Amino acid sequence: MSTAFIALGSNLCKPVSQVEKALCAIDKHYLIKLEKVSAFYSSPAIGPGVQPSYCNAVAQISTLLSSEKLLKVLQKVEENQGRQRERKWAARTIDLDILMYDQLSSTCRQLLLPHPRMHKRAFVLKPLSDLLTENFVLRNESISQLLDKCRDKSKVKLIRRYDLKARRSF
Ligand code: ADP
Ligand code: MG
Repeated sequence: MSTAFIALGSNLCKPVSQVEKALCAIDKHYLIKLEKVSAFYSSPAIGPGVQPSYCNAVAQISTLLSSEKLLKVLQKVEENQGRQRERKWAARTIDLDILMYDQLSSTCRQLLLPHPRMHKRAFVLKPLSDLLTENFVLRNESISQLLDKCRDKSKVKLIRRYDLKARRSF
């Protein structure tokens, strides 16, 4: 069994509902178990032009899928939720990125692990910090040390917590 962390982000078509929908779809897969889900946060879009704010969350899963197969499953979930791949960083109904898969390190362009930009993004580190303890080290630093270095961390705002057991947000 492997442990992976997935970043979820949406800024189109009711972003909070899109993130909830993706979490349900991920959990329904017979080889994936949703172990923990961070709170939902809002963050300003960094993409081109004026874009709506994002809803961001991070999920911890256990899975019997390989990292490559997991990516395929996540891409299918993106597709089912109408994800269009237009310009880089364009607005999207749902973006599902694998942040880490066990201790795996991959430089393959199709699947870079750990995710190469996660340590710079407050909208990833903030929800991730809900799930990890201070003992967790990434690039020789703890999550709170990495968050301290993020200039935009104040812009990541709590929307609401996610109750995994009740399978609903409140
Ligand atoms: P982004 O997430 O950077 O906004 P996309 O979601 O369109 O962009 O993904 C572009 C490509 O990134 C995908 O085709 C995928 O193969 C690749 N990719 C590389 N590493 C990862 C990862 N860790 N998680 C998800 N996709 C990844
Ligand atoms: Mg992506």
